[in-house]
Amino acid sequence: MSTHTEVNVPALGKINLPTGLFINNEWVPAKSGETFDTVNPATGEKLVAVAHAGKEDVDAAVAAARKAFKTTWGRKIAGAERGALLNKLADLLERDAEKVAAIESLNSGKGVRIAREGDVGDSVACLRYYAGLADKIFGQTIDQFGDEKICYTLHQPIGVCGQIIPWNYPLLMWAWKVGPALAAGCCVVMKPSELTPLTALMLCDLAKEAGIPAGVINTVPGLGATTGEIISRHLDIDKVAFTGSVGTGRRISVAAAESNLKKVTLELGGKSPLLIFDTADLEEAANWTSLGIWFNSGQDCCASSRIYVQETVYDKFLEVLKRRAEAAAIGQPHDEKTSFGPLISAGQRDKVLSYINSGKEQGARIVTGGQKWPQSNGGFWVEPTIIADVDESMKVVQEEIFGPVIVAAKFKTEEEAIELANNTTYGLAAGVFTNDARQMTRISGALDAGTVWCNQYGLLHAGVPFGGFKQSGIGRELGTYGIEAYTQVKAVHQNLSQTIEWPL
Ligand code: NAD
Repeated sequence: MSTHTEVNVPALGKINLPTGLFINNEWVPAKSGETFDTVNPATGEKLVAVAHAGKEDVDAAVAAARKAFKTTWGRKIAGAERGALLNKLADLLERDAEKVAAIESLNSGKGVRIAREGDVGDSVACLRYYAGLADKIFGQTIDQFGDEKICYTLHQPIGVCGQIIPWNYPLLMWAWKVGPALAAGCCVVMKPSELTPLTALMLCDLAKEAGIPAGVINTVPGLGATTGEIISRHLDIDKVAFTGSVGTGRRISVAAAESNLKKVTLELGGKSPLLIFDTADLEEAANWTSLGIWFNSGQDCCASSRIYVQETVYDKFLEVLKRRAEAAAIGQPHDEKTSFGPLISAGQRDKVLSYINSGKEQGARIVTGGQKWPQSNGGFWVEPTIIADVDESMKVVQEEIFGPVIVAAKFKTEEEAIELANNTTYGLAAGVFTNDARQMTRISGALDAGTVWCNQYGLLHAGVPFGGFKQSGIGRELGTYGIEAYTQVKAVHQNLSQTIEWPL
């Protein structure tokens, strides 16, 4: 079976894409010869068949990663050199931004301009941020024992890390995982989502070109229940870093516990609340709310999917927001003007439509949207949708929809707003719009969320940590917290003059 496939890419023509497994810096087919298909979400048609990694393939990838960890990476290379290689990788990604963005757009359905300026741009920035941190990893000196001894801590790389990522930001989630892992000195066995494996595979060629040694990055595409499960249960993987749904996060935790108690970090889902007070600038708040819910067609873990609006401005705000929904730049992914593309799959589209129906059945009001986009043809679009007058018992309020659907309800007082916002099992993000600075401080302290945006929404930065309270996850990515998640602390006691008598 071939490890590369020619694909026709809008505006770029035919490109020969890697579709095999990347193990020890070489492209190989799956040992079993098995493949799975990945689909174009804008047409519903098959894009390419990709190699499906099985147990033997994952074993080979782990062995290559372990060897690199012991010989060319890990503690065998200076942090500054790791940083230089990551910077080189970032430069190559920037050089190939057009091509990588075109493939990201084709495989995930997002608008090509968004893919280039957002996904590729932010991935380059993330790699550079961690390149800069690679030689700034240090512990403590505990020098409080007089002449007897000195103690210090070493922050050492954890080792071989399995990394399992989702389909909504295939390239950016790759950068969030690979950047800190490599900067810390870890080696990686990466499993991209079966729905969007293409850019993770392209990045392997760039890593090799950058000079990153063989075995440091290995990529094993495959399904969750097979390849993902094999990684989570592998006895020679030291950590799994996962981004995806709560259900899968739970399964990975169990697999890790039942195998070698590998360390686990989880970035999971959300049902993030946004509070809008009557002192806020409603036009401005509507712009940020729209970005929060309709960016990436709502397929965003920190989407502002529940809004609570003070009753005095509830109707007015919904009117302004409705205008924003109807002005969304919905269109074909390859069109430079598009910022709202199709959902990732027919299954995801049908799930979103069934949530909209359940909202209707439970008595909520559809303000706008609620249907497939009329020009969908074979693609998976759902219109930007607002569901108003919801109450806390409804499924659309309690469950993550992961589509372009926002639910709205009103509140009277600040206390009530906080209570409604925190009435969820999730705790990934939250937002508040108010012009009262003291209220902003009170509320950001009271919200149960790993990120709180005040008078804006949805903007992330490589230097600022991100992760969940409650069932939205364990651990943090980004910032210096993100690199800590790939190191482990060793305490060294160094005797200078202590002696003991034996027996005691
Ligand atoms: P998913 O959990 O279905 O899949 C994510 C990844 O896990 C995929 O690579 C999949 O193949 C793999 N997987 C599935 N079953 C597995 C198993 N049993 N063992 C090991 N791996 C398995 O999630 P998704 O549908 O791809 O992504 C959507 C979800 O991800 C949403 O809930 C969203 O909120 C969440 N998400 C969270 C963040 C964050 O940073 N918190 C970011 C993006 C997405």
